[in-house]
Amino acid sequence: MGVNARARISIETVRWQMCAIALRSCDLILGCVDSIAEREQLETAARRYLTPYVDVGMDVHRMAQGFSIGGQVALSMPGGPCLRCMGIIDDRKLELEAQAYGAAGGRPQVVWPNGLLASLAVGFLVQLFTPWRKASELPLLLEFDGDAQTVSPSNKLLYLEEDACSHFADLTSLGDPLWGTEGLRKRKATAKS
Ligand SMILES: [Zn+2]
Repeated sequence: MGVNARARISIETVRWQMCAIALRSCDLILGCVDSIAEREQLETAARRYLTPYVDVGMDVHRMAQGFSIGGQVALSMPGGPCLRCMGIIDDRKLELEAQAYGAAGGRPQVVWPNGLLASLAVGFLVQLFTPWRKASELPLLLEFDGDAQTVSPSNKLLYLEEDACSHFADLTSLGDPLWGTEGLRKRKATAKS
């Protein structure tokens, strides 16, 4: 509020799918969901609304000696490389995620990587909406090595054959399942009153 005293804050305490209309009017979506399937759904919704999507992901792996932590923050812009292009989502991961999650137990102490990755995601937001940097100059994928405690721009995208994403190539085919329903809902509410 110190930055914008007139900011309107709306808090929804339901799953994001239940307030998709509110999501549609956002200028940016930050996703911090647990599962790969969930982040695929959220990215698809963001592409449908032509909204930039910042995805935060972190994973804990059991090693011979303790645990290893890795993570990433990815900027998925409409028309640009998506999470599948970046290798964050693929069909094999979708199949395996149920077994892989929870390698460090049900309540792993991951407050420090979560805090770091969340701050990096806010960094994308600030850089997109203020004159810090041109959006075209932003690294789209930052990789976090929790063992070395380092964050680096990924070089994965250097190996993409094209900058354009083929997974959401035809944006018009995504459609908007809620298009028009908002007006319908309001008309119904008005008719009842
Ligand atoms: Zn893609």
